[in-house]
Amino acid sequence: MLLDQARTQITAACQRLTDDGLVVGTAGNLSIRQGDLVAITPSGLPYSDLRPDLVAVVDYASGKQIEGPLKPASELDLHLTALRSTGLEAVVHTHSPAATAVASLADLTALPAVHYYISMFGGPDVRVADYATYGTPELARNVERALEGRTAALMSNHGSVVAGPDLEAAYTLAQELEWVCELYLRVRSAGPPKILPDEEIAAVIAKIADYGQRAPSA
Ligand code: 13P
Ligand code: ZN
Repeated sequence: MLLDQARTQITAACQRLTDDGLVVGTAGNLSIRQGDLVAITPSGLPYSDLRPDLVAVVDYASGKQIEGPLKPASELDLHLTALRSTGLEAVVHTHSPAATAVASLADLTALPAVHYYISMFGGPDVRVADYATYGTPELARNVERALEGRTAALMSNHGSVVAGPDLEAAYTLAQELEWVCELYLRVRSAGPPKILPDEEIAAVIAKIADYGQRAPSA
């Protein structure tokens, strides 16, 4: 089987999606690129039934399916677009509640810097991509525009999409985006939000680049 390790990683991450509150039912999809190939969740399969051999493998350049007995995620175009436009190796698309709520506010075109964590997504805000029917090339194009200079976008009346250097990182970033969205909703319901200036976010982007440590071997 092609992309064995990526298939196993996707299967393991899918078992966490529901418990972590990022999706309900069969919503959402995950992908990992390795070289010329992309492993992606199958469409419409209950996550509890997912096994590594059911993960689809497609060609990165053409999107043509190479392996897997089931159809790839309906958002395949969106994943390929996000992988190509960010140059990163993993993409997580969720319907997490706070992100979807923020993406459904009539007066909002971008999630502003209500917290310095916004810097994790590459800029002073996270844009809301215009609505288009799920699984369409138009939705992928709208998301591509929203991702310019960013590693995440909200999707109007739909959800969120986040790219990262690997699946673990992209998954954590999706949780962090959900956390910032939840915070924003709380702040808005309490009063007018105080937004950090662009210069501060630029400073945090520079500082956060070397944030994080790994435990030395025992
Ligand atoms: P799939 O079941 O085809 O992955 O679609 C879920 C989804 O989130 C569509 O936007
Ligand atoms: Zn979706």
